[in-house]
Amino acid sequence: MNHWQDLEKTQRTIARVLQNSVMRERLAHAYVFEGGRGTGRQEAALLLSQAFLCSHRDGADPCRACSDCRRAASGNHPDVHRIEPDGASIKVDQIRALKKEFSMRGMETQKKVYLVREADKMSASAANSLLKFLEEPEGEALAVLMTVNAHQMLPTILSRTQVMSFQPLSPERVIRHLKAEGYPEKEAATAARLTSDLEEAAALFEEEWISQARAKVIQLMNDVMHRPSDAYITLHETVMPFFPGREQVERALDLIMLWYRDVLRMQVGQSEAIVYIDQEDRLAEQAFQLSQGRLGRNLQAVMDAKRRVHANVAPQLLMEQLLLRLQEG
Ligand SMILES: [Zn+2]
Repeated sequence: MNHWQDLEKTQRTIARVLQNSVMRERLAHAYVFEGGRGTGRQEAALLLSQAFLCSHRDGADPCRACSDCRRAASGNHPDVHRIEPDGASIKVDQIRALKKEFSMRGMETQKKVYLVREADKMSASAANSLLKFLEEPEGEALAVLMTVNAHQMLPTILSRTQVMSFQPLSPERVIRHLKAEGYPEKEAATAARLTSDLEEAAALFEEEWISQARAKVIQLMNDVMHRPSDAYITLHETVMPFFPGREQVERALDLIMLWYRDVLRMQVGQSEAIVYIDQEDRLAEQAFQLSQGRLGRNLQAVMDAKRRVHANVAPQLLMEQLLLRLQEG
């Protein structure tokens, strides 16, 4: 990510607010970048650091050619500090060590940047120490505290920072990206509903996992509906061996959920929004045969199973119970 325009494609509001603040030289001392993987938090933090340090900015964009820009990009800038948990937490000693380091050597410039990963793991004393640091009068400082969930951070920290919530990528954007990478559309449409993280989505295509996973769930869904006596065998011989363990079973449940949501979409006339885009005929058939009441109970059964998947119940048993509920209707 080299320009604010790049960030605008996915995080429009944040890109505009930050650009504006850079242009007016009115950046906050500390930002919290909140968001999941793949939302561009890290890249945005680097871009912001470069824009902050660069002395040859073009508008709000860093020049990317000066030594500040280049060293920030390669992770070697002496005034850009990366802080991450040492063990389970970020400790006050880590912040104290930084202070000591500063007092030992002369600064390159008056500007300092702190990039804090997993900032919710900062102890209260570490956070206070860092924030005090930022408010010191000499020089300028910028801190970006990154976290998956700002609610896990101490209110005293949040009140002294500006929180930016990075939105997950929309399924449409993930699909576009996957298609541009050469992945087939029907699998891309499914993968984009399992994760909004681009790397994780691409990983689902390894060894044709997503293609096989879809095929197995489609078979199970059709057996449940049309060949109930085969469904149990399909579950044990086809589905369970492919989805071993809780994480995998959770994926299977997501795929089953997507199937019934598609049936629902067919019932309410939203066939253009279905995820199993190559299964429209089968979905239409099920939409016709399943009453709204039964479809609602099926969706509920899948949700209940999803809730229990990390509880102390064997995945095998969980899936058998689900199958029973789906067939009772
Ligand atoms: Zn520059």
